[in-house]
Amino acid sequence: MTVIPQSCDVLVIGGGPAGSSAATHLAQAGIDVVLLERAVFPRNQVGESLIPHIWKFTDMSGVSEKIEQEGFLTKAGGITVWNDKFHQIQFSDFGYTRPGLHVERDIFDAILLNHAESCGARVFNEVAVKKIDFSDSQCPDIFYTDKRGYSNQEGAIRCQYVIDASGHSSFLASQFKTRQTISSHLNFLSLWGYFENARFVGVDRQSHASDALGSVKPVTFVMSFEEGWVWHIVLREKTSVGLIVPTERTRGMDRQQREVFYRQTCAQLPYLSKLLEPARFIEGSLQFRPDYSYYSHNVCGENYYCIGDAAAFVDPIFSHGVQNALYNAAAATLAIKESLKNKKHRLRYSQLCENRMQQFYGFSRALSLGDFGCNGVNPGLVKNLMKSLPPLELELILLASEMTNRSENFRHLAREAGVLGQFEENFSGRKREPITALEF
Ligand SMILES: Cc1cc2nc3c(=O)[nH]c(=O)nc-3n(C[C@H](O)[C@H](O)[C@H](O)COP(=O)(O)OP(=O)(O)OC[C@H]3O[C@@H](n4cnc5c(N)ncnc54)[C@H](O)[C@@H]3O)c2cc1C
Repeated sequence: MTVIPQSCDVLVIGGGPAGSSAATHLAQAGIDVVLLERAVFPRNQVGESLIPHIWKFTDMSGVSEKIEQEGFLTKAGGITVWNDKFHQIQFSDFGYTRPGLHVERDIFDAILLNHAESCGARVFNEVAVKKIDFSDSQCPDIFYTDKRGYSNQEGAIRCQYVIDASGHSSFLASQFKTRQTISSHLNFLSLWGYFENARFVGVDRQSHASDALGSVKPVTFVMSFEEGWVWHIVLREKTSVGLIVPTERTRGMDRQQREVFYRQTCAQLPYLSKLLEPARFIEGSLQFRPDYSYYSHNVCGENYYCIGDAAAFVDPIFSHGVQNALYNAAAATLAIKESLKNKKHRLRYSQLCENRMQQFYGFSRALSLGDFGCNGVNPGLVKNLMKSLPPLELELILLASEMTNRSENFRHLAREAGVLGQFEENFSGRKREPITALEF
């Protein structure tokens, strides 16, 4: 069993996309980085729909080829049925030459983590971080439990910088008590499970049996219903189906009652029920996560950075989670690299990084949730990001914002930022003809 060192330059908590990418960037720069992951990889994770924006980050970290070699399903875009209105987005219409992906997250995340190790990061699975002591601001002490042997061993490691990439458990924000749940009327929970042999929605707007996956490109299918919305993401061997409903909806239900609610809802919804008609639910696959939208203040400090879901998570509707994790990893590691070169300015670098991360988070939140302008979001930062986006990317996002009825604030901000008019002028020619029905 490899011994965990007693010190390093940077300690990363968590080996999901945020932590593994951060470890890769640092190791590639010759920085001594240790990553502690409490699970044994590959481990389950939700979030199988990836947008093409991820490629710029995976190119930066040199892992794109390994992802391509795995042969994940490539997706052409998305189709939504929201309040009975149909929309379709195809990435290729917006200049994207590379596809989105539908990935089994256990495999995808393991590719990223193995890549970090192959680049020189020292990775330890089954080691859970328990506490961080910041009393020596130059060298925080990280206390962990090593669960690899027959008995748990307590240990400590000293570093110059900590990256918290612990996902939705938000390790540091919990220790600092800075994590806040988004206002109560936006509290949703997700219930998701897996089906074998489901039909899928193709880019041709028709439904297909799973054996057509080699010949028809799939899309991510999303539909609203009175109580919330549903995703349908076809994978190579199974299909991920998730319900998003207000947290209150299942309050007081035990596991079995939640499963009944989930399966009955799936069986009753138009379109979805058709897609699942030939399918078999994989017993035991139902999972759930309540109150998944939260944010925190002070996600960066002079010796720590919270990235990915450890900093904030908004909503899965536009598949921003993994992209956000990769973006945060790139921003935080840039700040740390500069801080290691020039320690005097490390607080300044961390503040710049905090601004960047809050800007990205505010942007996602404005796009995903109907409620905007309240706690946790700086509208000025969001407008600046809108102004700096490449026109095609902005156009894709604005079109995506039309797909649901939740982004009125996003459009309001775009108007205030002065980017909506230009978009509306150019847009009509590019808009695909409206869909009036799906052939299921
Ligand atoms: C219902 C739902 C649906 C989603 N759908 C999508 C989607 O379609 N597309 C998309 O892009 N995103 C989606 N997401 C979001 C996506 O799953 C996350 O944004 C993404 O996984 C964040 O990556 P991460 O590295 O920050 O965290 P994670 O992937 O959660 O990784 C964190 C890691 O830290 C480890 N860890 C935690 N605590 C400790 C500790 N104390 N010590 C050591 N290790 C620790 C965990 O074991 C874990 O491996 C969805 C999220 C939800 C809730």
